[in-house]
Amino acid sequence: MDPCPLPLSEINAIVGRENVLTSQEDCACYAYDASKLRAFPQCVVFPNTVQEVSELLKLANRHLLPVFPRGAGSGIVGAAVPRGGGMVLAMNHFNRILEIDEDDMIAIVEPAVITGELQRRVLEHGLFYPPDPASLHFSTLGGNVAMCAGGPKAVKYGVTRDYLLGMELVLPTGSILQTGKKTYKGVVGYDLTRLMVGSEGTLGVFTKLIFRLLPAPEAVRTMMAAFPRIENAAQTVSQILKSRIIPSTLELMDQSTLQVVENYLHMGLPQDCEAILIIEVDGREDLLDHDMAKIQSICETNGARNMDVAAESSDRERIWRARRSISPALGRIKPGKINEDVTVPRAQIPSLIRHIRRLADKYGLTIVSFGHAGDGNIHTNIMLDRKNHEELNRAEKAVEELFRVVLDLGGTLSGEHGVGITKSPFFMWEVGKAGYEAMLRIKQALDPNNIMNPGKMFLPDRAFFQP
Ligand SMILES: Cc1cc2nc3c(=O)[nH]c(=O)nc-3n(C[C@H](O)[C@H](O)[C@H](O)COP(=O)(O)OP(=O)(O)OC[C@H]3O[C@@H](n4cnc5c(N)ncnc54)[C@H](O)[C@@H]3O)c2cc1C
Repeated sequence: MDPCPLPLSEINAIVGRENVLTSQEDCACYAYDASKLRAFPQCVVFPNTVQEVSELLKLANRHLLPVFPRGAGSGIVGAAVPRGGGMVLAMNHFNRILEIDEDDMIAIVEPAVITGELQRRVLEHGLFYPPDPASLHFSTLGGNVAMCAGGPKAVKYGVTRDYLLGMELVLPTGSILQTGKKTYKGVVGYDLTRLMVGSEGTLGVFTKLIFRLLPAPEAVRTMMAAFPRIENAAQTVSQILKSRIIPSTLELMDQSTLQVVENYLHMGLPQDCEAILIIEVDGREDLLDHDMAKIQSICETNGARNMDVAAESSDRERIWRARRSISPALGRIKPGKINEDVTVPRAQIPSLIRHIRRLADKYGLTIVSFGHAGDGNIHTNIMLDRKNHEELNRAEKAVEELFRVVLDLGGTLSGEHGVGITKSPFFMWEVGKAGYEAMLRIKQALDPNNIMNPGKMFLPDRAFFQP
């Protein structure tokens, strides 16, 4: 479909010419996200107020102009890529923390506030915003809500959806509405706030977000333990949780990851073990040594070796260095990768890892797996050179087979990254025909002209499906 002619003078009249970019060079900066997919928009617009967003969406409906909301562009599945051309709605000017309410433990923010910035600011008040995607130093809270971002702390603290109480948003047709309240409870009507979480920019543009906060934990303890067999690591995870200790993180690195990181850091990581766990507990200072002792004992019972308990913050930093070095270490094996974030019930992690090894052998690929053992979210990285089409073809077949395995194990195709463009061919595999059609009806009811982030989640040729 050809892009529609750009109603530039009308756009300029709404936001001011200084807030509109149209040159190829400028548009190139908004053509991509971390998926490496790329498509040029016709213009990039920086609205300043909710009324401007509303006017822009009304205009887009009149001209059938696609609109692509954008935060930091760090998404991994192409959800912010303006495929098909249209207007990128860059939310950069909505970057203020509006309120931190210490008594009610609530923060009200605009959507372009960087996740880590909110964490830092609330900590100054003794408060804690737990969702911790690895991208927290550059991703925005609006993007986090749209993708329901999560991180290592999800095992104890949950993900973005667990902290969002309400929002101000503009529906695709231009109406401005408020969902939720500053209260934790609220049961008046459908839960539109939850509907917006994970909506990937397809149902509306968020302009204000209300988050609940927690008291900041007093202290943290960290340890690392190596396990000869992956089953022992998985067993350890479930025994720790059953012992009524919920660690704030329970990270797993498989043998292939250990080898890659050791070659990069030379820090003495065991090479003959199938997995290591990084375990962290937080909370009241006077309870943590007791929790750590209990966890160590569970690890020992399950045959753990090379146990490394951080006594000082420098030891803690050393342990986390291993985990944080995975990405740069991977970059040394191959220039590219396909990074899937499949998630299975915890007890199925060993089975998943063995299937992944089988796929690596079957398709002649290097596959490195690590991730959040506490919630079964395993990042599966297929290393490749994207210019090698034959290798890419094998990798894509392996991904398809991986997705079938994950669904058979009772898991989900994505724990954190979402559907976007890259997973849209597999969307119906997980949600089923009835689920797909129900979601499509919601999309069509709120966005009758399909202007909001078209071509995401729903396959392009099914997005106009009429029930
Ligand atoms: C190195 C790296 C590590 C990462 N680690 C993690 C991780 O640990 N956990 C995790 O969950 N993700 C991770 N991600 C993915 C990514 O950071 C998240 O998906 C993040 O939430 C995207 O935020 P963003 O501001 O970059 O959004 P963008 O990429 O700009 O947009 C993502 C989606 O949000 C929509 N959107 C953005 N702003 C708005 C708004 N105001 N209103 C409506 N829709 C909007 C866009 O239309 C798009 O559909 C990682 C990415 C990278 C590059």
